[in-house]
Amino acid sequence: MTIKQKQLQLKHLGYYTGKIDGSFGNQSKEATKKFQRAYGLTVDGSFGALTEAKSILVWKNYQQQLTNKGYRIAIDGYCGTNTINAIKNFQRDNGLVVDGIIGTNTIKALNSSNVYMTEKDWSNSKYFKASEFKCPCGCGAGKVKKSLVDNLNVMRKHFGKPITITSGLRCTSFNKRAGGSTNSKHLTTIGGAVDLYIAGLSDTLEGRKQLVNYWINTFGNANYSYCNGYGKTKSSTSYPKSSTMGNAVHVDVK
Ligand SMILES: [Zn+2]
Ligand SMILES: [Zn+2]
Repeated sequence: MTIKQKQLQLKHLGYYTGKIDGSFGNQSKEATKKFQRAYGLTVDGSFGALTEAKSILVWKNYQQQLTNKGYRIAIDGYCGTNTINAIKNFQRDNGLVVDGIIGTNTIKALNSSNVYMTEKDWSNSKYFKASEFKCPCGCGAGKVKKSLVDNLNVMRKHFGKPITITSGLRCTSFNKRAGGSTNSKHLTTIGGAVDLYIAGLSDTLEGRKQLVNYWINTFGNANYSYCNGYGKTKSSTSYPKSSTMGNAVHVDVK
């Protein structure tokens, strides 16, 4: 492994902050010590065969996790351009800081059982575009649970009419301004809710009831659905109805 490669292996795990310059100086040595300490190796600051082998294993694991999340890359244990781009895309899609470094928040998101829409998923999505779900404040944030979009596609097919997303994701500050609840599933950190409108159906209470009932009765992962005048959860029909959402219907997933 070249020194540059060793520096890449360390940098994108968050241990090395210096330049990828191929010169193994003090910063590289200290970073190696941190890595060795974290992975139970002899802490001598020398990036030898054992450290190299361990770093390859660690990177193979992350490459596998990224691939499992839909960011397909070679599982070769070498952190390079493709791996770094996959990390960045994953971070972008998940509303994280886009630095290409596997840090605490990225690890948490990688370990999460939630599956979010990837760029590839969006390009395969028949009825919906990522832009329809983005927070309207202009922050551009938007990770959306795949299960939500999957449900919406089924619903779209079932009713045979275009579904307009009237409200998708909301970042924390936009949500506050919009008067949303602090644990709203519309939040960009959750990405599990939309308000929708179907012309010729949502305009009447009868039509909105039909949509609420369809959402709750059809989808095992459904959480709440409600609208002006009616609301339902999996377990009861007494969820507070919203009088402020006009003709839109709120739907969300667990
Ligand atoms: Zn926003
Ligand atoms: Zn809503």
